[in-house]
Amino acid sequence: MSDKIDNRVQSQTASGSCSLDDDIRALEALEGSEYISADYMRFRVAVARAQADVADRLAAAGGEPLVAGAAGKPLLDASLVPLDRDLLRRLLDSLCTFCAAADSASGTEDLERLQRATDKDAGLLEQLVRAACGPDPDVLQSLTRTLEIPVFALLLLGRMLAAPFMAAARLRLPERERGQEDPTGHCAVCGSPPTLSRLDKEEGHRFLMCELCGEEWEFPRLTCALCGCDEQDNLGILFISEEDPRWLETCETCKRAVKTVDERKLPDGQTARLLVEDVAGLYLDILAEKEGYVRIAF
Ligand SMILES: [Zn+2]
Ligand SMILES: [Zn+2]
Repeated sequence: MSDKIDNRVQSQTASGSCSLDDDIRALEALEGSEYISADYMRFRVAVARAQADVADRLAAAGGEPLVAGAAGKPLLDASLVPLDRDLLRRLLDSLCTFCAAADSASGTEDLERLQRATDKDAGLLEQLVRAACGPDPDVLQSLTRTLEIPVFALLLLGRMLAAPFMAAARLRLPERERGQEDPTGHCAVCGSPPTLSRLDKEEGHRFLMCELCGEEWEFPRLTCALCGCDEQDNLGILFISEEDPRWLETCETCKRAVKTVDERKLPDGQTARLLVEDVAGLYLDILAEKEGYVRIAF
């Protein structure tokens, strides 16, 4: 696997590549761990590479600063985030090519359906991406009927396509608006629940990270990052072993769990990275499901 990935990395040239290089190096360090599937790792790297390509093009194109949303709402209004139809289509085509090469039958079928539908109606992809960000369950249900793709697959796919556009839009918000804290733990920029909680290397402060827009913000340790519950009797942790740097923080109020990584327990020089933790902490998703917790619910 390493050779294939290395070749891909060398072909990257623009701004997002350094970060992706670091991710891939960290992923390679995980290679051989019995709980990590090489296929899944390749899939995540291919998606990240296609997203980085779009991110680089968006960064090169630049754009005017964006106006933040109204008080009490996410700073980015998903219905107004700038989307580029050609780049969206490019990203969809990249995902489709990769899925077909990886022989992922169900993924390829869904993506090809979406490609055909987009050929007929170019606005459809944009509609899906905005609905997945909200998310807007009514629009997603309607698209499920039109496209004959399960709603959960549409949500994942829509958010995968949306991520580089949301990240680019986040960087166009006024600096002073970012870094705000939502008491429920949701991302103040895009409204998503956090993907990962990390305890920082220096002092063990807790930071939450959003996979959709790339935002990161500090949040209290003894509070559920998914609903804001701070009743200690309702909060717990689930882990495989006490030495493990990764565990789940669970909440009986919302029955959800967030993946957590303690950077102080990671090898020297290694910090928590979303792509790497998605792969490295896969066993925690399985554990959460087994114990009856939903890891993320939108
Ligand atoms: Zn976000
Ligand atoms: Zn909760």
